Amino acid sequence: MADETLPGLRETIARHGLDARKSLGQHFLLDAALCARIAALAGNLAGRHVLEVGPGPGGLTRALLATGAAEVVAVELDRRAVAALADLAAAHPGRLRVIEGDALRIDPAALLPGPRRIVANLPYNVASPLLVGWLRGAAAIEGMALMFQQEVAERICAAPGTDAYGRLSVLAQWRCRCALLLRLPPGAFSPPPKVWSAVVGFTPHAEDPGPALFAAMERTTAAAFGQRRKMLRGALKVLGEAESLLAVAGIEGTRRAETLSVAEFDRLARAVLARGR
Ligand code: SAM
Repeated sequence: MADETLPGLRETIARHGLDARKSLGQHFLLDAALCARIAALAGNLAGRHVLEVGPGPGGLTRALLATGAAEVVAVELDRRAVAALADLAAAHPGRLRVIEGDALRIDPAALLPGPRRIVANLPYNVASPLLVGWLRGAAAIEGMALMFQQEVAERICAAPGTDAYGRLSVLAQWRCRCALLLRLPPGAFSPPPKVWSAVVGFTPHAEDPGPALFAAMERTTAAAFGQRRKMLRGALKVLGEAESLLAVAGIEGTRRAETLSVAEFDRLARAVLARGR
């Protein structure tokens, strides 16, 4: 069955009783041109294995299949959506794998062969933990194009010295080059969410810090931004020996977390890791 003969997305939703559920963060994209635009933001997908989280009725999935992607693996928690995608999988033999499950529990590197990319209109309630998990394993990912609530997208891309700069900015920019690529109003989705959304593009840096340094960075940023208005010599007390950590990293204890560059956080996390040994 070619895509043109598949039922439209609204009909797919009606046939499978796929009325949107707030608890699953369901805000669907039903405009094919918009879905194609988002798929294009992921770069040239020719020969790539693409993970899509939360395909829902499959608008973005259709757009991804229309690229030269070798395979799309779609992980979906909602059984109704999994059933709704059966026709699409039949229309693309061997190119669409639909997996019923929780994306928080899957490791992209174990699920897909490389080269891997991740493209998704994320369920907003689990977007941040999903992103942090993928940043941890970014060495195995070639690139990502992910839709977030605009406020989260802005936090990811924020520069030091701004209110939006925080833990997510440091983790994301430490592991990837990040760019806010597209902003979408609530009306682009069905049903419309309360807030604007935005797509962020991620290109992982070549250097892989490894799991121990990543964990040290998570602890460092959690402590530093846990009390972001405090001077670092106070905020980092939870890590123990804050003054000596700051001295090793060459950072004044009177500074505040939001003034530190990503490179300075890198020095601090390395000091935390070295001290832990
Ligand atoms: N990609 C579709 C689109 O753009 O129309 C749907 C996007 S909707 C914002 C998020 C999707 O993620 C929903 O289909 C929802 O059921 C699914 N979802 C929510 N939590 C999930 C999880 N933990 N693992 C996998 N899928 C999840």
